[in-house]
Amino acid sequence: LPGRTFTATTAPMPGGGAVAVLHDLTETERVEKTRRDFIANVSHELRTPLTSIQGYAETLSEAFREDDPAREFVEIIRRNAQRMYRLTEDLLTLARVESGEQRMEFHAVTPGELLAEAELNFQDHHRGAGIELSVMNTAQGEVEVDRDALRQVFSNLLDNAVKYGGTGGKILLGSRDVEDRVLFYIRDFGPGIPSEHLARLFERFYRVDKARSVQSGGTGLGLAIAKHIVRAHGGEIRAESELNHGAVFSFILPRKQLLFMPARSNKTSA
Ligand code: ADP
Repeated sequence: LPGRTFTATTAPMPGGGAVAVLHDLTETERVEKTRRDFIANVSHELRTPLTSIQGYAETLSEAFREDDPAREFVEIIRRNAQRMYRLTEDLLTLARVESGEQRMEFHAVTPGELLAEAELNFQDHHRGAGIELSVMNTAQGEVEVDRDALRQVFSNLLDNAVKYGGTGGKILLGSRDVEDRVLFYIRDFGPGIPSEHLARLFERFYRVDKARSVQSGGTGLGLAIAKHIVRAHGGEIRAESELNHGAVFSFILPRKQLLFMPARSNKTSA
């Protein structure tokens, strides 16, 4: 059927043969695409005015004396405009990775190189936060990844480990071989996550503690973005936690990417 999108579920039948069930996703896909395009357009349009608000608020703040209450108000305007700008950035990134429009450029690297880069980024952003990062790489060989995209995954997970698990004082970042795939993990020793939330953490805007997340400057999209990037590599991401003993976020990647694959998904166009 030209122009229609299906998902297929297949199951072997006893005594040979197989049964396939096709679900027509054409309409759902169309609605999803409209939603994504709308969000991407709005986010894009908001960027210019937000940049302008931030810029003028910054200039205006300098016009007031340090002890003038108006300076604090202008500073609040600037901070909030900056927060909204971050939100538009994350919304655009999510729309791109969700739709598969962001083409992944896969190159072979060693897991050790990825961890070293993530560690360097961590030191740049969280130096002086009093949190010790230990890196442990036992994975061998190479893995094919889009380096920029993966940098974002590590950064989102490490930022969260600092924001929500930083009270534990240390974070472990590591990799190891799991059969023919490579597993990466970020472990913190903070308060952890109640088990009833674990399954939903990767949904956009899902937060365990809304007030805390907003206060820490989060957009609620970090884990959703990480999930889609990992999926675009044909991998899987998960969260585990024992309350009061911290949280572990891990993702597993295949070593090799199939060439000439369009946006990766389990859908088939017929
Ligand atoms: P944000 O941090 O912007 O709220 P995320 O998608 O990155 O959005 O995370 C979603 C939620 O998952 C967070 O609001 C927080 O409640 C929870 N979370 C993420 N990482 C951790 C962690 N290491 N420890 C405890 N809770 C976490």
